[in-house]
Amino acid sequence: TAVTLALSLTACGQNSEGGSEEKNNGGSEGATIGIAMPTKSSERWIADGNNVVKNLEAKGYKTKLVFGEDEPDQQVSQIENMITQGVDALIVAAIDNKSLNNVLQQAADADIPVISYDRLILGTENVDYYASFDNEKVGELQGTYIAEQLGLADGSKKGPFNIELFAGSNDDNNTRYFFQGAMNVLQPYIDKKQLVVRSGQTELTQVTTLRWDGATAQRRMDDILTKSYKSARVDAVLSPYDGISIGIISALKSDGYGTASKPLPVVTGQDAEVASVKSIIAGDQSMTVYKDLRELAKVSANMVEALLNDKKPEVNDTKTYDNGSKVVPAYLLEPVAVTKDNYKEALVDSGFYKESDLK
Ligand code: BGC
Repeated sequence: TAVTLALSLTACGQNSEGGSEEKNNGGSEGATIGIAMPTKSSERWIADGNNVVKNLEAKGYKTKLVFGEDEPDQQVSQIENMITQGVDALIVAAIDNKSLNNVLQQAADADIPVISYDRLILGTENVDYYASFDNEKVGELQGTYIAEQLGLADGSKKGPFNIELFAGSNDDNNTRYFFQGAMNVLQPYIDKKQLVVRSGQTELTQVTTLRWDGATAQRRMDDILTKSYKSARVDAVLSPYDGISIGIISALKSDGYGTASKPLPVVTGQDAEVASVKSIIAGDQSMTVYKDLRELAKVSANMVEALLNDKKPEVNDTKTYDNGSKVVPAYLLEPVAVTKDNYKEALVDSGFYKESDLK
C-alpha cells in the first residue's frame, strides 16, 4: 500500500486551499506546534497531517509533524521528543488512548496545551480540548443504512436476515462510540430476531479489530464464513472502517460472493478512502461515512490559536466526552453517509476529491 498511498497524496481532501485566508488573530505567531498522527497506513491520517500543517502555517505557526507506525511506544517517544524540542502546543491523534498519561504529564509540566485530535485520550487531566466528529452518529449512519437496505426500516421486509458485526481497535476510544451508534439501530432488530448473528459474536469485546487492520478482519470473516455459513448466506456486514471493509469483501469474494446468484451482502464503511469509493462505484462496498477532514484540521488549528492567545476555543459539546478524569470540551463535526447515489455531490462537488482521483 505504500505506493498507492504515495500516489494518492493529492487525494483525500487535500485538493483545497486549506485555511489560507485564516489569519492569526493574536500575538502567538511564530510558535511551533507539534502534531502526532497515528499511522501512514491509512490515507486519512496522511491527509489529516497535511491539512493541519496547512492550517497552522496559514496562521503563521511553525509545525513538526510526526507519524507513529501504529506502535504506542513509538508515539510516546515521538511526543517526548517534541516536548524536549520545546513545542508550544500539541495536537495528538492517539494510537492507544491509555498509553499517553506519563508523556502528557510532561507536557503539562512544561505548560504545553494538548488537543486530542479525532480520538479522545483517556485517563488524564492533561488534555485540554477535543476536536472530532459526532462518533456515535457515524455508527448510527452505518446501522441505519443496513436497516434501510434490507427493507427492515420501513417494514417492507421482515427477515430474518443474517448479519455479522465488526468493530474497530479496542484501544481507540472511538470504537465503542461507533459500535454503540450502530447497535442503537440494529439491536432492536436482533432482539426481534429479524437480524440474526449466526457466529454468535455480538459483544464488542468479541468483534474488535486490533489497530483497525484489514487483514485481521479478513481472517475473521474467513473464519466466520467457514464455521457459520456452510448452509446460509450473509446479508449484511457492519464494518466500521473502509480498510476493514476491503478485507471483509475479499473474504466474501474468496467464498464465492459477488455473482448474480450469490450477491455480496450490504457492507458499510467509514472515511471515504479512495479504494472504498471506487469499490462503491463498482457496486461492491455499499456505503461509507465521509468525514470532512479539512474541517477537522481547521477546528483543531483554531483551538490551538485560541489557547496560545489566552482565548477560549469554540466548542459545541461539553458533556459527551468524559475521559475518565474529566469531561473534555469538544467541537464535533457532522459525518455524512455516502453511497453510489451521492458520492459525486458529497466528495467531488465539495472538492474533497477530484473526479480523476476516483477513476
Ligand atoms: C477514526 C476513523 C478511522 C479509524 C481507523 C478512528 O479513530 O475516527 O475515521 O477510520 O480510526 O483509522
